[in-house]
Amino acid sequence: MTFPPLPPSPLRLRIDRAALAANWQAMNRLSAPGRAGAAVKADAYGLGAGQVVPVLAAAGCRDWFVAHWREVPDVIAHVPAADVAVLHGPLDQADVAFAMATGVRPVLNSLPQVARWLAAGGGPCHVMVDTGINRLGLAMADLGDPMLARLDIDLLISHLASADEDTAQNAQQLAQFRAACGMVAARRHSLANSAGIALGGAYHADLTRPGIALYGGVARPELAGVVRRVAHPEAAVLQVRDLAAGDCVGYNATFVAQRAMRLGVVALGYADGYLRCWSNRGALLHGASRLPVVGRVSMDLTAIDLTDAPDLREGDWLAVDYDLPQAAAQSGLSQYELLTLMHRRFARTGQ
Ligand SMILES: *Cc1c(COP(=O)(O)O)cnc(C)c1O
Repeated sequence: MTFPPLPPSPLRLRIDRAALAANWQAMNRLSAPGRAGAAVKADAYGLGAGQVVPVLAAAGCRDWFVAHWREVPDVIAHVPAADVAVLHGPLDQADVAFAMATGVRPVLNSLPQVARWLAAGGGPCHVMVDTGINRLGLAMADLGDPMLARLDIDLLISHLASADEDTAQNAQQLAQFRAACGMVAARRHSLANSAGIALGGAYHADLTRPGIALYGGVARPELAGVVRRVAHPEAAVLQVRDLAAGDCVGYNATFVAQRAMRLGVVALGYADGYLRCWSNRGALLHGASRLPVVGRVSMDLTAIDLTDAPDLREGDWLAVDYDLPQAAAQSGLSQYELLTLMHRRFARTGQ
């Protein structure tokens, strides 16, 4: 059977392309004396790699970081494969074969990964060294292994654990990273994520790897005036209804109308990343009017109080109140979670 064209989604994620490009340019400028690349893992933090990568490439970005091998195709559709680094590294022969066939570069995280890469013939690669986060990467003690001298290393990378805080761990990791740079021959060096960029030039090395700041997240207060909002989720009103005093709304009747009121039901729920923490707490926006969420957020639907927008009709669009720093403070979710949650049923539109 051939299907007719799909109807438009009642959810859209509007990407402000000018703000996205401006955020990368700002991070690139702040990364002096190095340059900025871009973390585009998790489908560019949920915004859509297909939307994000061409904008950042046009802005001047040349270095791309994904986590999974399966994230590669969406990125190399737009940029040269040799500019793409896969952070998880090659876990088995299938990963190595994929790297060889596409030309993307593995980030080698362990001596077994180094051995696997060399056994396959090697070629340009990156190496991650763990300087204290104890996540992925070679231990400092591994760096003397003679296999490392046989690698053709472009980037020597490490990752900061607490760059969003003022803590002694940052300087400790920087010292370890400098020691690692003295032990391993690499063409370029990279340490800082978004928050690390704000720690100053000592942390910048040749290349920084901002993610959240490109997409509108404010990782440290110093970046508040710099980073512009990029992601604007919007949802359609599916139904409006009139409630009498005493009527209750949603699962478990957690909201009871105190007076006659108009209710809007929008096509947004926890399956779309709008989690139940927004029940009786979040809001949608209609121009300057803030329309509070009433009752429980359910899988596909959220109810809102239309008192301040009595003219709203079925099919009208509302913006989700989702300014990242503010929404994180309100919800207890991190800015990273708020963004990456919104990846499923939204149609991505640019502007
Ligand atoms: C996700 C990630 C980044 C980007 O971090 P942000 O805090 O989003 O800027 C950089 N480097 C590595 C290794 C990562 O996993």
